[in-house]
Formats: sequence, structure tokens, C-alpha cells
Amino acid sequence: MIKIGFWKRRRHHLDKMTLKELTVAYFQYYAIQAYIVVAIAGYAYALSSGAPIGPLLLTGLASALIYPLAWYGIHRFILHGNWLAKSPLTAPVWKRIHYDHHQDPHDLHILFGALYTTLPTVAAATMPVGYVLAGWPGAAFGLATGAVITCFYEFCHCIEHLSYKPKNPILARMKQQHMAHHFHNEQGNFGITNFMWDRLFGTLYTNANRPPKSATVFNLGYDEGMASRYPWVAKLSGGVDTGTPRDRRQREAA
Ligand SMILES: [Zn+2]
Ligand SMILES: [Zn+2]
Ligand SMILES: [Zn+2]
Repeated sequence: MIKIGFWKRRRHHLDKMTLKELTVAYFQYYAIQAYIVVAIAGYAYALSSGAPIGPLLLTGLASALIYPLAWYGIHRFILHGNWLAKSPLTAPVWKRIHYDHHQDPHDLHILFGALYTTLPTVAAATMPVGYVLAGWPGAAFGLATGAVITCFYEFCHCIEHLSYKPKNPILARMKQQHMAHHFHNEQGNFGITNFMWDRLFGTLYTNANRPPKSATVFNLGYDEGMASRYPWVAKLSGGVDTGTPRDRRQREAA
């Protein structure tokens, strides 16, 4: 992997970054660049194919609706389901795509989804519907729209973990809900930027109606007991860490 600019540094901590530095790092990240290429290629192909524009736009709309639902389901049932930790084949993937993010929410490198997991997922969520609505141009248009939404999701997610208070009230609320998912109780507020499906499925909570503080908010239930039966995540992580992200950062700094 070729690492450019910001990404040559060993550690990438959002708590020590400004919005401007984050924006630069964002566009230098290989996965974001890949989404942009996919979006341009997909739209170029679809729009130059001669396919009627109506069904193509419908495909874009369908992608925008399905995407948050797919993300909600993945976050709730796959990333917080813990079953990925129970096999040596999937444990490294789970560690990379979610366990490490809850262990250290400030680490920008882990915050971005891994391309080999995100791109196939986006394709699976958007291309079949696009194909049904408008053939291959529709599939391409749907995928391109999915890639654009992924860029939006990833940027919002970064801002949620950047230590600054957004002035925009929608962003500020989004950030508060996601912080609660990370630091209060991880069994709710699964939408990253879109909490519509949380509302619909009853997993949305705010400060007014929040559940008790969760003991597993940083380790996602992967404790000593679980590690003794399924050791792979612990092996890759140098043991089971029961501390908070703040403890860990202080240790790193020492
Ligand atoms: Zn997060
Ligand atoms: Zn989570
Ligand atoms: Zn760290």
C-alpha cells in the first residue's frame, strides 16, 4: 500500500487534529480516493450509455434509501453481534472493522472502513436494485451513488470523532448520538449519520431516555471470558484491554 502525506505518520489521532488537517488527511486516504474514482467511473458509464435518465435517477433514490438501512443492519447485527470474533477466519476482520474502533475511537486509520469490506457491501446494497430498474447503466449509477454516500458517511463519522463542537445543529445532534453509542451504551444509536432506522426499530436514545451505562461499551463484550474461548482477537491485540480509550492514550504517551 502506498501511503501519502499524512498517512506516512505512524499514529493518526483525531483528538489532536483540526478540521483542516482532517480534510487533507481525508482526501489523501486510499479508500476515499477509490470511492471517488468509482463514483466518477460509474456516473460516466451510466450517463454515456444512452439509458433514459428517469430510471437512472430512480436508482439513485433507491440507493439513498437502502444505504442507511444496510448500514444500520450491518452495524447492529454484524459489527455488534460478536459472532465474527468466534472464528479464526473472521476474528481479524472484526477487530479491524469494529472492535478497534470502539477500543480507540480517535484513531483515524481505523475509523475509515476497510476498502475490501466496504466496496463489496456497497455494491451488494446498490447494484441489484439498479440493475432491476435500469439494467447495467442502472447498476453503475446505483454503485456510484453508493460510493458518494460512503464518502459523506465517512466524513461525517470523522467529524463526530474530531474534538470540536459543530455549529450546524444537525451535525451537532448527529455527533451527540454517535458519542453516546461510543461512550455510554453501544446497544443503540446504530445509524452513523442517519438515525431514521434507529427510530423505526426502537434503538434510538437521547440524553432524556438513555439506557443505563454499558460495561461493554469499549470492548463490545470481548472480555477475559470470551478471550479464553475465542483467543484470536486477544492474540492480535496483545491481550484483552479492559481500560478506557483515555487510559490507553495516556499509556501510549508515557
Ligand atoms: Zn464511531
Ligand atoms: Zn459500534
Ligand atoms: Zn491510540
